[in-house]
This record gives sequence, structure tokens and C-alpha cells, in this order.
Amino acid sequence: MKKLLYVSLILLVLNSCKEESSPTASKVDFTGVTESIKPGDNFFERVNKQWLDEAVIAEDQVGVGSYSFLNIPQKELLENILTEVSATDHEEGSIEQKVGDFFSSGMDTETINKLGFQPIQPILNKIDDINDVSSLMTFVTDEMTSGNYSIISMNISPDNENSSINMLHFGQAGLGLPDRDYYFKSDTISVSIQNAYKNYLTTLFNLSEYKNAEKSADIVYNIEKKLADSHKTRIERRNVKANYNKMTVATINESQPNIGWTKLLNQLNLETDSVDVRQPAYYDELNRMLVSVPISEWKTYLKAGTLATYSDILSKPFEDANFEYSKDLYGQNTQKTRAQLMVQKVDRQLGFALGQLYVKRYFNEEAKKRVLDLVNNLQKAFENRINELDWMSDVTKEQAKEKLYAITKKIGYPDVWRAYDVNIQKGKYFENIVALYKDQYQYEANQLNKAPNRDRWGTTPSTVTAYYNPPLNEIVFPAGILQFPYFDVTADDAVNYGGIGMVIGHELTHAFDDQGAQFDKDGNVKNWWTEEDYTKFEAKTQQMIDRYSSFTVLDSVHIKGALTVGENTADNGGISIAYDAFKLTEQGKGNTKIQGYTPDERFFMSIARIWRVKTRDAYLRNYIKTNSHSPPIWRVNGPLMNFSPFYETFDVKPGDVNYKPESERIKIW
Ligand SMILES: [Zn+2]
Repeated sequence: MKKLLYVSLILLVLNSCKEESSPTASKVDFTGVTESIKPGDNFFERVNKQWLDEAVIAEDQVGVGSYSFLNIPQKELLENILTEVSATDHEEGSIEQKVGDFFSSGMDTETINKLGFQPIQPILNKIDDINDVSSLMTFVTDEMTSGNYSIISMNISPDNENSSINMLHFGQAGLGLPDRDYYFKSDTISVSIQNAYKNYLTTLFNLSEYKNAEKSADIVYNIEKKLADSHKTRIERRNVKANYNKMTVATINESQPNIGWTKLLNQLNLETDSVDVRQPAYYDELNRMLVSVPISEWKTYLKAGTLATYSDILSKPFEDANFEYSKDLYGQNTQKTRAQLMVQKVDRQLGFALGQLYVKRYFNEEAKKRVLDLVNNLQKAFENRINELDWMSDVTKEQAKEKLYAITKKIGYPDVWRAYDVNIQKGKYFENIVALYKDQYQYEANQLNKAPNRDRWGTTPSTVTAYYNPPLNEIVFPAGILQFPYFDVTADDAVNYGGIGMVIGHELTHAFDDQGAQFDKDGNVKNWWTEEDYTKFEAKTQQMIDRYSSFTVLDSVHIKGALTVGENTADNGGISIAYDAFKLTEQGKGNTKIQGYTPDERFFMSIARIWRVKTRDAYLRNYIKTNSHSPPIWRVNGPLMNFSPFYETFDVKPGDVNYKPESERIKIW
């Protein structure tokens, strides 16, 4: 599934501490607090150090305790479902049949290994037949409809200026490394990753019996490096307006004749007069390179791309090559079990079918009702905060409140399930994958020129995550996150408001972060601020950028303040709003200790606990370069150093490491 643009995912942590998962310890008890670490010095470590010291990262994982895709207990639940449904026969075309047979086709490594790279041989043959730019573009376009993307990236989502209609957006593409910056760094670690990538390409060429493997890998790398040079950085891509360039098809067809936009859209069967070219510099460069780079080199490039696209679903040597490369990039030592790899695949390709089975089995409908109440309380608390802001005029406040109450709330799972119009068969893993890619393409293509589908979800129900989506002005909390340590029906309010409450506040704040603030209540990019208020907002956002840029991890790696500013704004707002809402509850108003801790102490400890995570250094290094979230420690200590009630609760004083005088405590929302 394509990632929704602008969607701000909150990646989360699931506790896997031995002590707390034992059946005798209460879930809501805080254990393992290191009282010798002062709250004002390092609150994250005070709550989590013992866990961090004891947690062991499994050899086949990049971390533990953990971000959504690392969430081991959750993946085990999905594996149980898949093992069970794949063991029996089901009615042809039923959800169980599709999910079960897809899983079992991927588990059938005997068949997969026998086939080697035979399944993609027809695609490689088509590349051999390319003889000019026109046939090259025909190949590129054809492959897009079956999920093999190369030099063109496309998605269909609302028009920034008219959010009631979906349009085509084209983004920069063409790279094999995770980010443009990887191609231009010359430090030891970056060079070793560049080499790992070249080795990966060389191995793929060798395995597919391609001549001059090493030289070919260099050709591919050099094309990618040139393309990367025209790419905008992740920070530049945060600028909503600069990344929206609506153009008529006639105009770009004329200015970029080598790409041939009219023909491209015809081949894709997509009818439209205008498209949004998000990063025009990339397409200008691509248009030039299509004729300046020899066709023979482009063919080598397309072969590499095809091999890389499919390497993890071909026979073991290809899968191993893919793993070796990711090992260098993310640091895990051994490959995951086949079953776990297939859990990821099923979740990615048939996630809303698997999601139905997950919800039926594991979702507590009571949680949905309780969380909706929490969302409503948080919304009210946010309104109060807006009313009390000392830097915003009444006119803008009215607009902000209108936007706040226009937010759509999605909780648990979709009201209408996405259907998969595919024929899934046992023993046909490759065919199944292609059928699913084609179905996904058709599903997306059918949305063009229509009103956005408001029943659609950008993440599967079992995923431990949440997001805000500006064009639809909606917040989404899948079933996966509505469980401990974020939420538990038996927990006290302090635990739930510091957990899921903080997450809800975080997502609500995204409607008002550096990007969200540019969208109005209907999801259009339209200014609803007075000029003076917006100038003040930008100055406060800049304070946030400067503060977080000063934080380091891995001894000396600085957080990218400008890349993470939206998430950091949301973390700061989220804690404040959740705290205000908590103070409206009976427990929040009182002072009854549980387990020796006051309600406020428990609220802040719950916040520190939901971000409990330990990762490998290689993973963290890539994360800092490419992820728009701050690392866990700064998602806790960063906002708390700005939040006065935290100072009062834990008696934080001048001299404490993270102490800031009141005048330096940044407050936007
Ligand atoms: Zn977020």
C-alpha cells in the first residue's frame, strides 16, 4: 500500500519487559523505576533504565519493545491467525481462503526455491527488447500497473486546492538507497553503506547470470546518484506549497517530451487534463537523462530495479542478498523466520482481510467506546487551551476551533472493509504477489477524479500506530494501539491519559503543526490565519526547530530539528492537552496515591513508558537521517522540559540537567 502523503504516523513502543508481562504483576503497576536518577536530569531513563539495561534485542530484530513494525507480541498474534487459517481449506474467494492460501504460498519455499529467478524472466526479456526512449517509457509505464515502480512515482489523493476531488500526484523517484543524502556522504559509515548497496546489486546481477556484474552495478549506482542530485531533501519536502505544482498535461508533455506525459497517461488508462508534479526538478532531470544516458545503461538500470523489487520473493539466494544489504543498513544479525516475513507480507498486501480476522479475534469493542470518550475529552481540553493562548488573536482562535471540531474520528477498524478482487492460489507465490499488486493499482486508479473515499484507512487495523491526515482532516486510531501500555480498560485514568491520551493529543496537534496549520478545516491548503498570528506561529516553530537541533543521540549525532518539527510540535501539544484532560477526571482532581505514586506522577510515568524502546545503532543512525520523529528519549525529555506541571510534580530545580527557566519553556499549543 502506498503511504499517504502528509500522513503523520506516530510510531510506537510495545512493552515486552519480562516482569510486567508475567501473569502475577498487575499491568498498571510501574516497576523498575531507578529512583537514583533525578526526574529533572533524565526522566526517560528514570522510568526506563532498568528495562533498557535488561532488554535483549533478538538476533533477527533491529530493536525491541518497540516501534509498530518491531512489535513482536502483535506479530505473534497475526502469525497465530495465519497458521490456523492456512491449515484448513476454506470456501473459494472467502477472506480466510485468500489470506490462508497467500500465507501458505509464501511458506512453500520448496516451490519458490526450485523456480529461482524464472518468475521474473519474462520481465527481464521485455527489458532486452527496449531499443529507444519511447519503448523504454512504455516498459516503465506497463510495469507500474503491476507494482514494479522505477523512475516514476505516482499516487492519487485529494487536490491541495480542492480537497473534494482526487487528482494525480507525481513525486521524485528512482533511488535504491533510502534517501538522496546517502549518495553524497563520504564518512566511513556512509561509504560502507554505499558499498553494501553496490555489492547487493552485483550479487543480484551475478545470480541472474548477467555479464559484467560489478561494472553494471556501478552504472546503476551512477544513474541513481545523478537522479539523487535532483531530489529535494526530506526537509525541503515538508514545505507543502513548494511541493504542489499543478500543471496541464499539455504543458509538461511539451516541456518534457522524452517522458511523454500524454502517452504515459494513456497507457496507464488515466484520464485527466492536469497533474500535480510535486518535485519538478526531478522530472526535468529525468527528461534530460532519458536522452543523455545511453539506452544500454538504462536497460541495466531497469534490470537492477526489477531484481531489487522482487528479490525478497524469489529463491533463497536472492532473498539472502536482500537480507545482507538490509543488515548493513539496519544492523540486524540474522534473518527473521519465514513465518514472520510472511506475516509482514500478508499485512502489507492483504492487510484489511487479515485485519478483519484480527479484529474479530482480539478487538475489545468496549475499548472503542472508551477511547471515543477520551477523544472527546481531549478535544474539549484542546479548545480550552486555544481559548487561553496569549499569542493568538480571537479571529484566528475561532478558525482554529472550527477546524478542531471538524476533525473526523476513526477508531478501531474501518466501517467499510476494502475488498480484494484477486484469485489467490496455493503454490503460486509469485503469481499471487503480482495479482495483489495489480489489484492495488486498479484500486488506486479507480479513485481518480472522484471524491476522496472517507471509509478508507491508511494503515491496517492490527498496526500499533495512529495518524492524522490533513487533506481529510481526520485522526485514526487502529485497534492495534488500543491496548496496553497505551490503553487498558482496567487501568486508572492516569495510565490511560498518559498513554493513549497523549497519542490522541499528539494526533490532534498535527492538525496545527507546521504542515497541518496550512490546511483548512476542509483539507484545502488555504490560509485561515491573520498574518500577525501566522508570523508568531512560525517564530515559535523556529524555536522548536532550534531546541531539538541541539539534542544528540549516539554521542554526537544531532536530531534534524527541521525534519522532526511537526512531530515534536505534536509531542509537546499532545502532553499538554492530555494533561489538561486528565485534570478534568476524578483521579486527576484528587490526590490518592496508587502504588505509592500520586495521580500526576503516574500520568508522567505512563508517558515515559509508552516510548520504551531499544534499537541497534545502525537502525538509529538511519532513523535520524530519514524519520520525521525524534528518537524515543527525546520524545519524553524534550516536551517535559517545556511543561511546567512536570516541574511542579517532580520538584525540578535549577541545576537539574534538563531544567529550563520558565522564559525558555517553549509553548505553541
Ligand atoms: Zn505524529
